[in-house]
Amino acid sequence: MKELDSNTETSKPVDSKVTKGLGRRNFFKVGIAGTGLAVGGAAGLTIVRRMEGIPHEYFPMPVKDDFKPIDQRNVILTFAASKTLNEKHPERIRKFGNFHFYERYKNFRKGPFQNTPGYTQLDRALAVGGWSSLQALHGPYSLSSPDGVVGSWEQTMLWESKYKFTSEKEASIAIKSAAKLYGALNCGITRRDRRWDYEPLYDPAEERELSWEKDFPFQPKTVVVILAEMDYLAMSTAPSWVTDATVGNAYSDALKIAGQVAIFLRQLGYKAVASMNDMGINGPYAVAAGLGEAARNGQVITPKHGPRIRISKVYTDLDFVECDKPRTYGVASFCKNCKRCADSCPSKAITFDDPSWEPTYSDDPDYIWHAAPGVFKFHKDAKKCFRFWTENDGGCANCICSCPYNKPDFWHHRLVDAQNVVAPGPVHRFMRFMDEIFGYGKVSEPKHVLKFWNSGDKA
Ligand code: SF4
Ligand code: SF4
Repeated sequence: MKELDSNTETSKPVDSKVTKGLGRRNFFKVGIAGTGLAVGGAAGLTIVRRMEGIPHEYFPMPVKDDFKPIDQRNVILTFAASKTLNEKHPERIRKFGNFHFYERYKNFRKGPFQNTPGYTQLDRALAVGGWSSLQALHGPYSLSSPDGVVGSWEQTMLWESKYKFTSEKEASIAIKSAAKLYGALNCGITRRDRRWDYEPLYDPAEERELSWEKDFPFQPKTVVVILAEMDYLAMSTAPSWVTDATVGNAYSDALKIAGQVAIFLRQLGYKAVASMNDMGINGPYAVAAGLGEAARNGQVITPKHGPRIRISKVYTDLDFVECDKPRTYGVASFCKNCKRCADSCPSKAITFDDPSWEPTYSDDPDYIWHAAPGVFKFHKDAKKCFRFWTENDGGCANCICSCPYNKPDFWHHRLVDAQNVVAPGPVHRFMRFMDEIFGYGKVSEPKHVLKFWNSGDKA
């Protein structure tokens, strides 16, 4: 992994005189010209390579040899959905200001409507509709329960003979073609990695522990990772309930596609199970499958849609398939200097610190029970994030909306990728403030809600 630069100085606003009067197109030209001058001809090829991502033979983030897979009972949404676990761990509730995870989750999205754009009956209806398919596809605890409806471990529709692909590449392309036909924004393939699978698994709906060895129906060899897109206009309303709608909708899409890919594989004679957030961590699997890079906001940033995606996956016993290589795009370096998500986070869940092996916000085991020490990354306090969702009564996603990589078109982060090669630190900070000056990524903007609700009229 490329060393992160050590410049952690807080960014200063750019003088508005510098940017006054620059249109978006002109800014693009200025940026390109500046980058071009700085880079020179010979580095051009390096830039092009960098924009496509640098492939790696190994997982592109340092992981300690003694890293232990996460116990699913320590995952926030699993813990919050389980009455039993809440009763078993009063110290977790106490240490987090007597915040009762289970009670708050039970009453989530049930609060009163408000008179503010983004929080009306219209907005709530949109959100509940957005999440409804996921619940129908996977059950009431749809994000955290293994062995749900579409993600059932039962191997129904398994063809008795196996289809023989002529090459691993052919198998890979066929799976990706199928995933895209079912609606995937993108699809990557990687080997199953036990480090990213929960151990043990826990189903909060049935309050039961599950074992990969005793309960899961086969030995997974490969994981197919699927991306679904969230709507840009809806996302720009964050943290409103309209954002909640596109989050739920993209989760539903992602699971629907994973379920279809699982059936496709079973019809080819290979065992397969679709999974949402319920059996392993989607982020590292997406990174391993070359779909994006881990970012400060705790999300995976993809080259074309930034963090505006949701991820699902399919475990299969098919191993005659070409896997993708992880790729890096300069995101870690950009995040080191940007910090816009941390500034926009209403719960202060996102760290301003550099990547580390473990959380820097606390070392009290009763406070950081949900953390995953042993991966060198930006550690976020997911409990604070969850608390804000419940206070907001409908999620948040400010950290996706405000991210400079979140764009409906891609000129900005192509430029960022390009300049990352030669001009880190100060240019990253400049890019972040240019983004703000041009009005991108503003959160809590009622006019964005109105813009979304008027968008249906456009052809
Ligand atoms: S979703 Fe909101 S509260 Fe959670 S980390 Fe992102 S910005 Fe912070
Ligand atoms: S807002 Fe900035 S720091 Fe946060 S994830 Fe996006 S690029 Fe990284």
